[in-house]
Amino acid sequence: MVFGVEKTVVEGVEFDEDEQLLIGHVRPTAGARSRCGICDRRCRGYDSGQGRRRWRSLDLGIIRAVLEADAPRVRCRIHGVVVAAVPWARHGAGHTYCFDDQVAWLAVQTSKTATSALMRVSWRTVGSIITRVAADAIRRTDRFANLRRIGIDEISYKKGHRFLTLVVDHDTGRLIWAAPGRDEATLEAFFDALGEARCAAITQVSADAADWIAKVVADKAPNAVRCADPFHVVRWATKALDEERRRAWNIARGAVHQRRAGRATGAAAAISRARYALWKNPEDLTVNQAAKLAWIAKTDPRLHRAYLLKEGLRQVFVFKGEHGKHALHKWLSWASRSRIPAFVDLARRIRIHRPSIHATLEHNLSNGLIESMNTKIRLLTRIAFGFHTAHPLIALAMLAHGGYRPALPGRTTR
Ligand SMILES: [Zn+2]
Repeated sequence: MVFGVEKTVVEGVEFDEDEQLLIGHVRPTAGARSRCGICDRRCRGYDSGQGRRRWRSLDLGIIRAVLEADAPRVRCRIHGVVVAAVPWARHGAGHTYCFDDQVAWLAVQTSKTATSALMRVSWRTVGSIITRVAADAIRRTDRFANLRRIGIDEISYKKGHRFLTLVVDHDTGRLIWAAPGRDEATLEAFFDALGEARCAAITQVSADAADWIAKVVADKAPNAVRCADPFHVVRWATKALDEERRRAWNIARGAVHQRRAGRATGAAAAISRARYALWKNPEDLTVNQAAKLAWIAKTDPRLHRAYLLKEGLRQVFVFKGEHGKHALHKWLSWASRSRIPAFVDLARRIRIHRPSIHATLEHNLSNGLIESMNTKIRLLTRIAFGFHTAHPLIALAMLAHGGYRPALPGRTTR
């Protein structure tokens, strides 16, 4: 039927010339009438509420459309006096199910501008819509069933001023939980939502080396082995390499300054340009970047050694298992004797976390999942920039990566 509604009687349709609006006058079928808006229990009527209300529905061609109906109140045994449920919209929503679902589909599939412009709603409204669509989808499933191996990560947004804590399931590859904040209380809320029995069933937890994560995991998931995320460990090495690159650049620039004060030229500029070549994995290098690396090998052997150290550590996690442990052992003695301060420090840090790195190598936890989830959510934080709270961002993340990808209305049975 034209409005895409169920359990609904259409009493009439009118076109309002002034408003250029199609209005469908509707009421719930007898079976759907007089139910609590929160729990859907059959209730006794209370009063007629605030009279007739409108719900924005999907456009008909280029014409905006609404449903209009009475919105009486009922008295629920549990929820008290509430507006009665309507079969065409979520409780408290000003849009129909179809409208909500199409907005959620667009928000996941397309851009911010496309979603807003096509649906003729503000981005903030999109935020409220996806929040209720995600909440509804999550309520209908048990996302914490059969959790064994989980990964914990954090991500910054709002230009690094705010943080989200994320939890992923290593076995399904899904995002299962996210909340604003990065502290013990935030993570405790996850384990509390899980409940004691399910916490006890968790066998492995991968995370970066943050103390607050270690403490909560030890406390709440006592049977879990803690594994260091290769993604974060390799990132430490990238940071150490960066420190070394800045040192090389400063020295090169200093040399230029002595000759003629002015722009960074020659060696300094080349080192600055080589940044991406140093960061990238060797197999991803362009021809040009490979040439830069070869140039560094010749002109600055120490910087090149730092690069090899970074690559060596990455290789440890490619090997995995006993082979990986052996490689890590060799890497530690190499780094300790490298006389490159950033890597001597890194070796010290890695020795402290060696048990959890060994656990990662033994349990063969994939690095790709945490890394790709981190990248995907970082992309969403840019889209979600206009939202005023973290909840629409979390909703968008759960819809896109939590196994709740919305379907277009009318294409599948709800
Ligand atoms: Zn109720």
